Amino acid sequence: MADDLKHAPNSTAEIARLLGELLGHDKVASWVAGTPMAGDGELLDLTDPATGRAMAEFRDAGADVVNAAADAATAAQRVWAAKTASERGRIMYEIARQLRIHAAPLARLEAVSAGRPIRDAAGEPARMAEMFEYYAGWCDKITGDVIPVPSSHLNYTRHEPIGVVAQITPWNAPLFTCCWQVAPAIAAGNAVMLKPSELTPLSSLVVASLCERAGAPVGLVNVIAGRGATAGQAMIDHPATGLVVFVGSAQGGAAVAATAARRMIPSILELGGKSANIVFDDADIDRAIVGAQAAIFAACGQSCVAGSRLLVQRSVHDRLLEQLAAASARIPVGLPLDGETQIGPVNNARQWDKIDDMVHHAVKAGADLVTGGACPAHLSDSGGYFYAPTILGNVSQDMLIAREEVFGPVLSVIPFEDEDEAVALANATPYGLAGAVWTRDVGRAHRLAEQVRAGTFWINSYKTINVMSPFGGFGQSGYGRSSGREALAAYTTTKSVWVETARDPVIAFGYAPG
Ligand code: NAD
Repeated sequence: MADDLKHAPNSTAEIARLLGELLGHDKVASWVAGTPMAGDGELLDLTDPATGRAMAEFRDAGADVVNAAADAATAAQRVWAAKTASERGRIMYEIARQLRIHAAPLARLEAVSAGRPIRDAAGEPARMAEMFEYYAGWCDKITGDVIPVPSSHLNYTRHEPIGVVAQITPWNAPLFTCCWQVAPAIAAGNAVMLKPSELTPLSSLVVASLCERAGAPVGLVNVIAGRGATAGQAMIDHPATGLVVFVGSAQGGAAVAATAARRMIPSILELGGKSANIVFDDADIDRAIVGAQAAIFAACGQSCVAGSRLLVQRSVHDRLLEQLAAASARIPVGLPLDGETQIGPVNNARQWDKIDDMVHHAVKAGADLVTGGACPAHLSDSGGYFYAPTILGNVSQDMLIAREEVFGPVLSVIPFEDEDEAVALANATPYGLAGAVWTRDVGRAHRLAEQVRAGTFWINSYKTINVMSPFGGFGQSGYGRSSGREALAAYTTTKSVWVETARDPVIAFGYAPG
């Protein structure tokens, strides 16, 4: 066993210690109405991605927990809506401050429980705080319009909260996704029931408790620890739920949207992608190589916007592939708590198997395994779900690996001849989440920004997103936008109010009394 693995902390004890520090108790349970509430369903394990060993357990939440959360959210939303807009904003600034105060243990909890490298996780609470600060500023700026209707009426609009919102999030960036969704929802005046992935519920539980510590009404943010088919389904079915926000796979999103449609409630879907990162021969190739690595290998490729298809103009293809492979083989893969680690483990065993299956399937279909394709040798005794940065060459668009999301550190490199072919390849998947182009030709850069079907597009850059900017997908990457100003529209409903102002109004229908 490698020396660094011997020094890995006991994650069971570490999780208990961090939960004790952050929540005041070390049990894993839903956070409902300001208190832990255990489910009574199946016993579920939380597994340490770095060792493959169980580190905590909890009981799946069912309808009882969801009913209590819905009651708490309904009551808290009334209290929240009765506060002045400025007061809500001040509380949201205080939530941000609480996130900053607890940044160190919260980052460590995220690293140990979700397997995120500490060098990434360490900066996350501050970014989450910025999300609450951004939306805190919006609280007293959600205003309607006065419409110049052609009659004697005053007509104005009100953007009212929906009430109780159900949010369902995946395992790849649990803290980030929780704050990304909770901040706009409560800024718009709603209460929340959030169900994180059953694999990574811990940091979301802490966010809910910090909201209350900051002065949010008890029950404004409830977190349900449970599975999709049980707790998630019960949340969508609950009559109090007025909007469902789902972040996850296309299959999960389709099921959730169908249930929401049966209840006639709206949904926002933030789903997966198969994003194209396009490099032309006039690009700064060294920068493009660094960008390509960040696009696919950051977060171990477990990122919805991962640039998993690298489209390279044929004239620079061989040179770029050789340099990229050499650089990628040097990226440090290791334990999440090691400050040198840039690629941590895949989150769970099922995902590791899926990644490995897809790589082997691609090789059988004719792709070249340029680098990676297995657990790195120095981590093979760890028991953890490590996967080396993997590059597949000679990939063609008809291969499954070029069309389906892998959600792991696997890059497919595909050559192209010219601009038209690059655009056609970029758009040849049912997804449309993100994309990028590397070129010095400014006109071409903007042509591609227009022609590539993607909710987010970068020019000579990759992966920057910010709460201030709208984010979402086209096609099977989902619909609706859940950040920026646009999220406030999604998290509110518009009412049109008509007031008669005429001295002697005439209602031109029916008979006058008497
Ligand atoms: P998943 O769809 O399996 O699960 C996501 C969440 O939905 C979990 O909390 C799960 O318990 C719940 N769920 C699943 N089926 C459900 C159902 N029928 N009813 C109610 N709840 C249900 O996805 P995952 O494997 O956890 O996450 C990976 C996926 O998430 C990838 O496809 C990735 O691209 C996507 N993702 C998208 C974004 C985005 O913003 N577009 C961000 C992060 C991850």
